Amino acid sequence: MICLGIESTAHTFGVGVSGDWGEILANVKSHYKPPKSWGIDPTKAREYHEKNADAVIKKAIKESHIKKPDLIAVATGPGIPPCLLVGLKKAKELAKKWKIPLVSVNHAIAHLEIGKFNSNFKDPIMLYVSGGNTQIIAFQEGKYRIFGETQDIGIGNLLDSFGRKTGLDFPAGPKIEKLAKKGKKYVEMPYSVKGMDVSFSGTSTKLKKLIEKEDLENVCYSLQETCFAMLVEITERAMAHTNKNELILTGGVAANKRLQEMCRIMCEERGANFNAPKIELAGDNGAMISWNGILARKNATKNYETVDINPKWRADEVKITWR
Ligand code: AMP
Ligand code: MG
Repeated sequence: MICLGIESTAHTFGVGVSGDWGEILANVKSHYKPPKSWGIDPTKAREYHEKNADAVIKKAIKESHIKKPDLIAVATGPGIPPCLLVGLKKAKELAKKWKIPLVSVNHAIAHLEIGKFNSNFKDPIMLYVSGGNTQIIAFQEGKYRIFGETQDIGIGNLLDSFGRKTGLDFPAGPKIEKLAKKGKKYVEMPYSVKGMDVSFSGTSTKLKKLIEKEDLENVCYSLQETCFAMLVEITERAMAHTNKNELILTGGVAANKRLQEMCRIMCEERGANFNAPKIELAGDNGAMISWNGILARKNATKNYETVDINPKWRADEVKITWR
């Protein structure tokens, strides 16, 4: 079985093609770049996806050397409604054209499943850190469950909004990482761990004040050390509570070498295994949707009208038919 998957939950329009055994036949994407002054503009992102969708689909089909897939998968949430609607519309068009079933996929679970497959891990905990999302998810008693998460903004959004205030171009994460390497002095930052959750809005407020008086390199260094320590702390607690000994770090922020290092050290100290997939699979992409489509094929339907977007779809609400 060949599945074509469409990702359009936020700034990426991605199309992946996967086979039964997890082989990736294509993984093509295009990125909407937010304006300098603000985050993702939903209308502009939608227009961008509408403009680029057909070319990305065409390229993925060409790269995969298939005539037509047997199944279409689409990420229907969580995400930004106007962006989600572009992917769903395209998915329905293709499914109708080829008269094949359509399956809706949860974006967060798709990150976990591609990370699990890629690492060969059996039952990992996932630390999912991206622009809009910061969550710890793992499988327990028939469901994926959220063990901890941000109570306000995603870690990536924190980094990007700090970047906008300091003139760092989007995405700010890689620039902050570079500057942080040169930081020499630790500047006190809010450390907001609340049970299994974290909060970054206090950090955002504190940063606004700090940039006026502190050296940027020191602020970047302290920002990373503090926020990443918060994330590693709740991840370690989730691993201890669930008795799991495999960790996947994924999402766009997973590209950060310092965060990877902190996760690796924590895992080594616990005798656990650690994996961070390469960026093509860690960032938003179509291949994770097509692979999750293969796994979730039992949920597929030809009643296309019944498939809709679900912008606030949480991982623990998903019916898991493949584990
Ligand atoms: P995503 O939403 O998964 O596509 O991830 C995008 C987010 O990842 C943005 O907020 C980026 O600033 C962030 N990001 C990308 N590379 C890095 C990095 N090296 N360090 C920290 N954050 C990063
Ligand atoms: Mg994502």
